[in-house]
Amino acid sequence: MSVAQSLVSGVARITVIGAGFGAVTAIRQLRQRMPQAKISLIAPEPTLQYFPSLIWVPAKKRERNDILVDLRPLMQRLNVQFIPGRVTGLSEDARQVQVMQGEAEISVENDGLIIASGGRFLKKLPGIEHAIAVCEGIDAAERIRDRLARMTGGTIAFGFGTNPNEPSAVRGGPMFELLFGIDRLLRQQGRRDQFQLVFFNGATRPGNRLGEKAVDHLLARMDKLGIRTELGAKPLRFEADKIVTEAGEFAADLILFMPGMTGPAWLAQSPLPTSSGGMIQAEATTAVPGFDRVFVVGDSGSYPAPDWAPKQAHMADLMATAAAGNMAAAFAGQPQTATFQWELICVMDMLDRAVLVFRNTRRQFITPPCRLLHYAKRLFEWWYLRPIR
Ligand SMILES: Cc1cc2nc3c(=O)[nH]c(=O)nc-3n(C[C@H](O)[C@H](O)[C@H](O)COP(=O)(O)OP(=O)(O)OC[C@H]3O[C@@H](n4cnc5c(N)ncnc54)[C@H](O)[C@@H]3O)c2cc1C
Repeated sequence: MSVAQSLVSGVARITVIGAGFGAVTAIRQLRQRMPQAKISLIAPEPTLQYFPSLIWVPAKKRERNDILVDLRPLMQRLNVQFIPGRVTGLSEDARQVQVMQGEAEISVENDGLIIASGGRFLKKLPGIEHAIAVCEGIDAAERIRDRLARMTGGTIAFGFGTNPNEPSAVRGGPMFELLFGIDRLLRQQGRRDQFQLVFFNGATRPGNRLGEKAVDHLLARMDKLGIRTELGAKPLRFEADKIVTEAGEFAADLILFMPGMTGPAWLAQSPLPTSSGGMIQAEATTAVPGFDRVFVVGDSGSYPAPDWAPKQAHMADLMATAAAGNMAAAFAGQPQTATFQWELICVMDMLDRAVLVFRNTRRQFITPPCRLLHYAKRLFEWWYLRPIR
């Protein structure tokens, strides 16, 4: 069926790219708003990785099966077709999605497209292979768990990078969680004194998107816990046992590093507009300018935003809701006016307690560490995943 035929027949074919937070919320919201639509989802695996709980894997509080959520039952319930494969590009009008399935390339036709294929981590830093990047998912988190179990002492270095052209494409929160979580784990195991923990960052005040007070709190906490800082000097390269920065070098037996992010690799084979940081350019409605019924949500996009705007699952969910609303409006011939609020909500966990960092356009605060927030993060995980499982 051609695009014109399907529009005339009234059965809209909506394609969603990705199987992460943005994609899952998009299919749920689309189905509510467009009961008759033919919805398909393209991703390498029909699996959601629940990234926020990866920080508990090194302490063996979560396992692979807790992190990887099979989406097939949800897709069956929502009558969504799963198309396995990796998107490699788009046609000039974005109505054909090119997908690699093993060695074969197929083309998937759509009348409406929601892109939620996440960000891509910049791996330009020489020696990056010596670092473990937890953002890569469960395999990386398990490697951290196993390395920690084997180590009898030494220096563990924690850091995160940026994308200078895309200020929002930085993810510091999980690295602070890993740092404080591993500190706590080593204390619980009675071997913290055999380890040096070092936090390094090119900025003198790392994590400033979380707000001034949050940075003060984090630095004070590192000081209190005997965590050394190496701040204000950009890392130049990693080696097997050290980190070399603009200011010198220091030993590191295990390097845990979260690189800055850019947009999906397949973007180069598409006509979509890109931001200077390599993300898909979007409007406040999540629409991609210059294209009909094409929206981008989550880590793949670059949006008009305040300078502290985060790349978070929470934001991907809000954007996906706006995108689904606008998609339904487009097919109903109504104006596409749905937008979303910028909110930074980070329950920064420390294994047995947590702090809440909150920021929106009106206010910002950080709470003192408390056990209740740790349990709230666990409860939220259960509550969020229950309707998806
Ligand atoms: C360790 C860690 C902890 C975090 N903690 C939190 C937290 O506590 N709270 C919070 O709000 N956020 C948190 N985040 C951030 C959050 O996970 C991301 O912002 C969120 O995953 C973005 O959602 P997304 O849908 O844009 O992309 P993703 O969730 O990354 O999903 C992208 C999807 O696209 C698929 N894909 C990729 N390439 C292709 C392709 N070529 N073709 C088809 N499919 C493709 C992938 O397989 C994946 O299914 C954390 C992140 C990390 C790494």
